[in-house]
Amino acid sequence: MQPRKCNGILDLLEFGLLPDLKGLYRCDYLSHCNLSPDPEPSFDGVLLSHAHMDHCSYIHYLRDDIPLFCTQGAKDIMQALDETGSTGTCELISLKESFQTYVNSKGGESKLYGEKAKKPRQYNIVENHFTVGGLDGEALPVSHSLEGATAYILHTSTGPVVYTGDFRFHGYKGDETRRFIERAAEVDPVAMICEGTRVNSTQVDSEEHVKEVAKERVEKTNGLVVVNFPVRDTDRMQSFYQVAQQTDRALVINLKQAYLLELFRDSGIDTPRIDDDHIRVYIPRKTWGVYKDDRFSEKIQLQDYDYWEREFLDHDNAVTAKNISENQDQYIFRCDFFELKELIDVKPEAGSSYIRSVCEPFDLEMELDLKKVENWLAHFGLYPYTHIHASGHLNYDEIKDVVQTVQPDALIPVHTQHPEVFKNLHDNVIFPERGISFEI
Ligand SMILES: [Zn+2]
Ligand SMILES: [Zn+2]
Repeated sequence: MQPRKCNGILDLLEFGLLPDLKGLYRCDYLSHCNLSPDPEPSFDGVLLSHAHMDHCSYIHYLRDDIPLFCTQGAKDIMQALDETGSTGTCELISLKESFQTYVNSKGGESKLYGEKAKKPRQYNIVENHFTVGGLDGEALPVSHSLEGATAYILHTSTGPVVYTGDFRFHGYKGDETRRFIERAAEVDPVAMICEGTRVNSTQVDSEEHVKEVAKERVEKTNGLVVVNFPVRDTDRMQSFYQVAQQTDRALVINLKQAYLLELFRDSGIDTPRIDDDHIRVYIPRKTWGVYKDDRFSEKIQLQDYDYWEREFLDHDNAVTAKNISENQDQYIFRCDFFELKELIDVKPEAGSSYIRSVCEPFDLEMELDLKKVENWLAHFGLYPYTHIHASGHLNYDEIKDVVQTVQPDALIPVHTQHPEVFKNLHDNVIFPERGISFEI
């Protein structure tokens, strides 16, 4: 169930999914629901830790005159979400003013849409030090599971407040997480807002282990290796890219991933490039499915694809299902739930294998989806499969270490279903409550 756009923010307020705060939400939505917007925003800025949907997707509802603070990597991911999303309703980088009309050239009333309705949001790219609302801030990169994750330290008049964002010690930026913890301890914070996704778990995870298991699996596979990892999990993409290098195969990514890698390249971010020897870009058949079909003109072939997709069609590293099917032992083919249909064209041969590199299902819907995936895999002879994953979050022992090292005056758990566990870690735990503000 999605909130109705025609009801602005009211569907979300109904269930407490957005807090009822003044001067925060976009004026076009408020006016449309007869809630008069404040002339000025009541907030100096929004600090975004990283571009996972549970953190960034409600930027959609913010006023365009509230400055946003994030890393270049996070902004690139949001730009990719805006420009390659199928619904086109993200509006994370630019807001598209809704419910507005204008007088057209014939004197009639027309709806405002497209480029005419676009209002860019105000982004401040954070690197080290920045200021917001007269306060000094520090952005400290951390390892999570995607590019551009950062923690923050905000120097308030009462003292420094630390926000961890989502973070972990393993992965490609583990040392940066350690540097953040050192710095957080050094500033002697009055409060630390700490994520606790896995505070109830003591399981030890590592991205290195994911890579080892995946490499072993690939080495033992004679045919095609099919893998699923989250589309924007750039750390996992890096792991499978390295496995591809070490096993002399190429990692086949999809168009959305290729688009994101191009944005990273333009920003100078160090990730695999799409023209690398060990990367290929998969061109799926869409709508009429006539890509490279000589019976149709190039114009008709192009019309199967969105504008942003077309730049990849003639790329040297572009591959089709036919290319993969003919040389199965040369590829590691990334294929998620929605792409399973591609296997009909790819036709995995005997001796092919599947690696599932996403988290375990944590609700009924995900369990049902996994069942469907397993049926597909069985059909294509890819069952049983290898499951290997490492979380983007600290476990209990690691959070305990962080709290003992940083020693904040107050500890504020967020992003957790088990806030009570934090009581074991600190004498002064403040549990956030809906609608309640507190002073430090
Ligand atoms: Zn996250
Ligand atoms: Zn999160």
